[in-house]
Amino acid sequence: MAGKLGKSTETMLVQAGRGQCPNGTVNQPLQRASTILFDKVSDLDQAKKSRFDTGTVFYGRFGTPDVFAFEQAMSEFEGGAATLAVPSGLAACVLPLITFLKPGDHVLVVDTVYEPARTSLDAFISRNGVEVEYYDPRADIAPLIRDNTKLIYLESPGSLTFELQDIPAITAAARARGVLTMCDNTWATALFCKPLELGVDIVVQAATKYIVGHSDAMLGLVTVADSALHRPLREAANWVGYHAAPDNVYLAARGLRTLSARLTQHQNSALALAKWLEQQPGVAKVLHPGLPSHPDHAIWKRDFQGASGLFSVLLDATDRDTAIRFAESLSMFGMGFSWGGYESLVLLGDPAHARTATRWDEPRQLVRLHIGLENVDDLKDDLAAALAASVQK
Ligand SMILES: *Cc1c(COP(=O)(O)O)cnc(C)c1O
Repeated sequence: MAGKLGKSTETMLVQAGRGQCPNGTVNQPLQRASTILFDKVSDLDQAKKSRFDTGTVFYGRFGTPDVFAFEQAMSEFEGGAATLAVPSGLAACVLPLITFLKPGDHVLVVDTVYEPARTSLDAFISRNGVEVEYYDPRADIAPLIRDNTKLIYLESPGSLTFELQDIPAITAAARARGVLTMCDNTWATALFCKPLELGVDIVVQAATKYIVGHSDAMLGLVTVADSALHRPLREAANWVGYHAAPDNVYLAARGLRTLSARLTQHQNSALALAKWLEQQPGVAKVLHPGLPSHPDHAIWKRDFQGASGLFSVLLDATDRDTAIRFAESLSMFGMGFSWGGYESLVLLGDPAHARTATRWDEPRQLVRLHIGLENVDDLKDDLAAALAASVQK
């Protein structure tokens, strides 16, 4: 893959945003700040006027040079015009909604959206006179677009159940009607999918996951294709007092340097285990778009350059106790929310209660796995033992 400057993506990830390091340090120094001091009233006035311009150091909440350097690196990685760092992935999901939706507007949201974003839409966005409509990830979008549709919210693959969306078809239909599109690209990162190249206007993601990569910081990112969209996002982030902590940005910038090495191993181990799991007794189905058995595999081959380490498994079992025994028998998979760190994780999923446009009436138990950077054969042995321990004869 060639980067914007004809460089490979791996090289770009090592170099991006490092240009202006003072004193010869390899990494941008961490700068914690609230107050910024000015010598002259005129300097302070000037900074205040341009406080929404990336690069202006005015007050800590508006960002410091280390944060701006990371945002610039992310824009280069995504192939976007500008990036805004925000306090969490969920903050990134919500920011375009509060920025671009007004009372009377209609928003189309994929039914498989990250569940906490769905909660924000139902509990908060819809309270302000915005009509929220969920759509089937595989639906033809054009007939769903109304005159007052302002925004289409995509996430591909879908949370927990891994349906892919036809991103180019959706963005083409949206453009024809002057509708904005945003896409949550946390699963693939720009290493494996570039939604802006597929016609999306706004990419949001939880850098908390693979970019930080070590399960120790929260950060969200909003990257836009057109710089005209950046200013309103930056202003709205200020209205609600968002501030991306420089310590977390530092960890994300450090994570970015090793992203391609880590994600390559997450991908290889996850694909190997997904293929192996398909053959195991006790496993009914593996939901991983990189598998030829996945119903959207052709879309994955067309739009993605790879797959990350997160996928789900349907057990043969329909009772939750078997799924609980499986999860609790694993010794190398921690149980807990989030993913994208170096360690393997397991979580029992229950998609049925988080779907309204589609129905999830699959009776078999869904288990989500995040495949970490442990030795793949160690993980396989652990999974085999847990399957043996949980499956009733
Ligand atoms: C985790 C996640 C988020 C939210 O990120 P946080 O940093 O935990 O707020 C958003 N979207 C997707 C797809 C996620 O997996």
